Amino acid sequence: MKKIMLDAGHGPATPGKRTPDGSMREFEFNSAVADLAAAMLGAEGITVRLAHEAGRDVPLSERARKANTWGADAFISIHANAYGSGWNDANGIETYIYPQAQKQSEILAGHLQQALVAAGGRKNRGVKRQNFAVVRETRMPAALLECGFMTNKTEAALLKNTRYRRQCARAITFAVVNWYYGRGL
Ligand SMILES: [Zn+2]
Repeated sequence: MKKIMLDAGHGPATPGKRTPDGSMREFEFNSAVADLAAAMLGAEGITVRLAHEAGRDVPLSERARKANTWGADAFISIHANAYGSGWNDANGIETYIYPQAQKQSEILAGHLQQALVAAGGRKNRGVKRQNFAVVRETRMPAALLECGFMTNKTEAALLKNTRYRRQCARAITFAVVNWYYGRGL
């Protein structure tokens, strides 16, 4: 059985994680994309579980533990980026893996980054390495996606847009299917 753990970053009431004008919380975007991607991956015969919850900000170690206990094939955390707290020009897509990530995390992240950039036509900021808890504590290939900047007016509009959310979910699905295919699965 193919098993993917999707993680919508943060929670519905996490302070600070929103657009500068307060019109969208980051969790709204993250969880909408996770729900869309879960349905699309399900249609590909892949079993999906969610590490987040709609009612609270699940602690990061608990999210990682859920994936480890289940034995997920991969862990994908969905986020929207921010640079500072006001509107500015920072823009584009980036994907994070753990600094000492295993090779399969690199490959998965490469598929995800490429698919997300192709889907939305945004700037490619590349795959980067950062010591984030969810990519550190998960024992399977793991990547954290930053699908555009909430602090950029153009990208904030996209992040609120249902069509863009669907494009991101399709990109995640395409990347995961290709990643399995590359492993002969
Ligand atoms: Zn985030």
